Formats: sequence, structure tokens, C-alpha cells
Amino acid sequence: MKPIHLIPLTGGNSPAREPRLDALEQLAAALARTFRTPCRIRPETFDLGFALDAGRNQYYSTAILQRLERAASPDARVLGVTACDLYVPVLTFVFGEAQLDGNCAVVSTARLGEEFYGLPPRQDLLRERLIKEAAHELGHTFGLRHCNDWRCVMASSHAVERLDVKGAEFCVACKKPVLHNGNF
Ligand SMILES: [Zn+2]
Ligand SMILES: [Zn+2]
Repeated sequence: MKPIHLIPLTGGNSPAREPRLDALEQLAAALARTFRTPCRIRPETFDLGFALDAGRNQYYSTAILQRLERAASPDARVLGVTACDLYVPVLTFVFGEAQLDGNCAVVSTARLGEEFYGLPPRQDLLRERLIKEAAHELGHTFGLRHCNDWRCVMASSHAVERLDVKGAEFCVACKKPVLHNGNF
């Protein structure tokens, strides 16, 4: 099984646009457990200025994936993590995007915090949502599509309410390609 590398993605000079290091460390630990492979945070950061749509004030996730692809090494999966809000042209926003059966995925925390919805911040909930969204996008890199089991982390979720009801684990069917994609 290839290791997973997390790459912090920044956008502009605002510190609020950087993913928090403690959140990244917790994410790395959770992903290492879920995927049973080493997961580390790359020391470099990556600026998303090139993917900014100034009119939308959002970052184009497909362009980010293409850039991550160039930064990816063939012997690791790469997950970009950002606090910047992401979009694809046909949707208002995305929590993340991944290459189906590829090497790269990206996730955003921009809409995962309660404060985005006008509620008091809850770190535990933010952490949980980020772990689920990251596992989901990485699941796509194993060739998994959306799962009909609402408890499975591969269930589609375009709202935080849907993220909250599903689990952080893969169902039995989805777990197979994930755990047999490697050498163990
Ligand atoms: Zn998905
Ligand atoms: Zn499933």
C-alpha cells in the first residue's frame, strides 16, 4: 500500500486560509489507521493563487488536482488540504475532489466548521467532518464511486448534515478495493 502524503495548501496571505497544523496531525493519524498505511505531512506548502477565481472568490479544485499530480511522486498518494473554498464550474462549491483511480485528492475545511453556518465553532465536529471528507476523496483514488449504504464513508454528501450522519469507515464492499490495492 502506498503511503499518503498530506500537502497543506495556502491561498493568499491570510492566516485563516491555512489549514491548522494540529488539525493536519490528527487527520494524518486517522487516515493512517483507516488506510493502514503511513501518512505524513509534507514539509512544503503549496500556494493556490493560480486556481483562484476572483469573481467567485473560490478556488478551482480540478486545476488544483492537475497541479498536485505534477507534485505527486509515483510511490505516494497525495491529499491536498486547504481552508480555501473550492468549486467546480457546474457546482456552487465542493468539499473536495479526487482523481478516480488516480493519485491525487483535495479537501477543503472552508464549509466544514459550524461557524460557516452561523453557529458556535466546534473543533470536534470539524475534525470529524474533515476525516470523513478526506477518507471519502481518497476512496475515489482507489476507484470507488459513491456508495448506496448511507452509513458508508463513500456515501455522497454535499451538505454537512449528510457528512454527520454517515460514518468514517468504509462498508464491507468498499473496503475491499481499498485494502487490496496494496501489498498486504
Ligand atoms: Zn465523492
Ligand atoms: Zn460503501
